[in-house]
Amino acid sequence: MTERRSPQAVWNNLVAGNERFVEGKPEHPNQDVAHRAASSAGQAPTAALFGCADSRLAAEIIFDNGIGDLFVVRNAGHIVSDSVIASLEYAVAVLGVSVVVVLAHDSCGAVQAAIDSRQQHPEPLPPRITTMLEPIIPAVQSVWLAEHSGTPYVDPTKIAAEKVNRHHLRDTVSQLLYSSEVLSEAVAEGRLGIVGAHYRLAKGRVEPVIAIGNFDEDLVEKSEQ
Ligand SMILES: [Zn+2]
Repeated sequence: MTERRSPQAVWNNLVAGNERFVEGKPEHPNQDVAHRAASSAGQAPTAALFGCADSRLAAEIIFDNGIGDLFVVRNAGHIVSDSVIASLEYAVAVLGVSVVVVLAHDSCGAVQAAIDSRQQHPEPLPPRITTMLEPIIPAVQSVWLAEHSGTPYVDPTKIAAEKVNRHHLRDTVSQLLYSSEVLSEAVAEGRLGIVGAHYRLAKGRVEPVIAIGNFDEDLVEKSEQ
């Protein structure tokens, strides 16, 4: 493990890479033959990313990073599971990453499927997909009932999917902290910061929604709005 960098320094580096990607001026760092060969001796990523598996959230591309830079865990709808937690704990405890980015995005198919599943007469889904969507349901119900307390059945044309998305993103960050002592202790000791962020498909921009841990005040404050 190389020396651990501060969460803010690692986040700044990710923001800079995303900015290059947004501007269409990527540098494609750490992707050359020499780096590939050198990195075969061991990995020392500075950040882990836990994001939706959507094909448009190509982690290294949107942060203009390269081989060995990001430890990436993804599944449909960024659903927390034992294997996800174990992978992130490995990234923090063994590899020494100082930031975990939880990445959601607009037009998320998993969020939409969770919304659709709460209609009065939903289309049946394969059982494993129904089970996988369960952690998104509290966000769907919370957003729906806040404005439509008269009926438990969701009308997908009348619910703000983006609100559900953000709610689920916050739930995901909370669940990681709640479920993992390794992660919550690292945050409490200032070694780790967790940023829940929202990726804009069209613009390519990664927007922080919630930041927890040893970050500059303005990032934490901005994320609380
Ligand atoms: Zn998605």
